[in-house]
Amino acid sequence: MNIDYLRRNGHSTQVERKPKRVDYPRLLALGRELLIAIGEDPDREGLRETPRRWADAWRDFLLYDPGTTETTFSSVTSDQLVCVSGIRVWSICQHHLLPIWADISIGYIATDRILGLSKFACITQKYAHQLQLQERLCKEIADEIVMLTKSTDVAILAQGQHLCMTARGIKTPAIMTSTIMRGVFREKHEARMEFLRLTERSHI
Ligand SMILES: [Zn+2]
Repeated sequence: MNIDYLRRNGHSTQVERKPKRVDYPRLLALGRELLIAIGEDPDREGLRETPRRWADAWRDFLLYDPGTTETTFSSVTSDQLVCVSGIRVWSICQHHLLPIWADISIGYIATDRILGLSKFACITQKYAHQLQLQERLCKEIADEIVMLTKSTDVAILAQGQHLCMTARGIKTPAIMTSTIMRGVFREKHEARMEFLRLTERSHI
């Protein structure tokens, strides 16, 4: 499967990602404005460094470098289900700018290329470090696994807690589960169940 195929079929790819940009001086000024807007004195003891810390946190989140994600090896088998589960990431909800954490499990059937183990975490972290929709995070991870491994049999399970629901608004803890099942995981009940069974052992 090549990039043209992915584009025609509506999948996002690495190539189409917008470059990240952070206006740090503006963040610093905004941090100070935020304190004023909530009735604080940004020059009082204890708050003087807060705008800088806040700006640093945004910059570090957005410009996080997960390293290279593209290391693949020749496959030695053509029918093995590989499942990497329990990848915990933190992100920020795009609707409320509040944190989300999510545990991600990735499964695929190795065909042409296999991915180095740590690359599953690199790919997940790469897409976690942007304003987030959990469903889109799943899709972007799936698209990149397809692009790198050339396998069309890819499954993603994400279970996340969104602080915009647990710490504000309705204030009820809940886990949001979203999945993507492609190829054999969509077509074959047994393959789907095997992947889901393997993800149950993800809690380390
Ligand atoms: Zn939200």
